[in-house]
Amino acid sequence: MLKLHDFCNRAPMSTLFGGRIADALPVLWVLATGEFDADVAEAQAKIDARLHRRFKIKVGRGDPGDDARRAVETASAIGCPCSIDLNEAWSFADSTRALAILDGSGVDILEQPLPRADLPGLADLARRSSLAIMADESACSTSDMIAIIRERAASYVSLKISKAGGPSRMLAIARMAQAAGINLFGGTALDSSIGTAANIQCCSTLPLAGGTELFMPLLLADDILEEPLAYRDFCVDVPSGVGLGVTIDEAKLRHYERK
Ligand SMILES: [Mg+2]
Repeated sequence: MLKLHDFCNRAPMSTLFGGRIADALPVLWVLATGEFDADVAEAQAKIDARLHRRFKIKVGRGDPGDDARRAVETASAIGCPCSIDLNEAWSFADSTRALAILDGSGVDILEQPLPRADLPGLADLARRSSLAIMADESACSTSDMIAIIRERAASYVSLKISKAGGPSRMLAIARMAQAAGINLFGGTALDSSIGTAANIQCCSTLPLAGGTELFMPLLLADDILEEPLAYRDFCVDVPSGVGLGVTIDEAKLRHYERK
């Protein structure tokens, strides 16, 4: 019998999970300075370098109205689609106030504005707004997905291997979302290059509607891969080698080992 370990020594992980349907995945960039001018300049540099053309604007620490206005102005100045991720920071009242400002702007996705358990609240926001609601913290398991589908609480789901507890569990969540007509997005738990490669392998087998945020290796000062993941033309290439498709640089691994 062919064991999983043997299989991963012969074929890419994407083949194990049904085969890739894309050779490269779109990757967004997070704008996190909190300053309009700095965020716009950073976005323009990423567009010029052909690295990113979708952006996630970090908000949630200030007044919701001020945050929403800054996001609208930033999205308008950049001229690219943008999303915002609240990481559960807003109340329902905050969210409705902010949505009145965000509706009709270049901000098209609102990620996890409310606490994870407030699915009725998310569903209510989804009905009131032209923005798509993305579930992240609300969508950690297949039972979470049953609840999200029942409540019609989101039209996007953020998929992460570490959040789900492994590649198979993440893909089970993805299949449920797909069957319910919920769009798929390749999220990140700020994984290493190795974790990012695993997420890329899984995401390459899925019809992503929202692309990915698998940018973390671009933030690293150094990498422990022999060949870094290739970011170009607004995408990251899906590595085609066996297993995760990446090779660990053993010398670098020893260099960064914690004694
Ligand atoms: Mg999130």
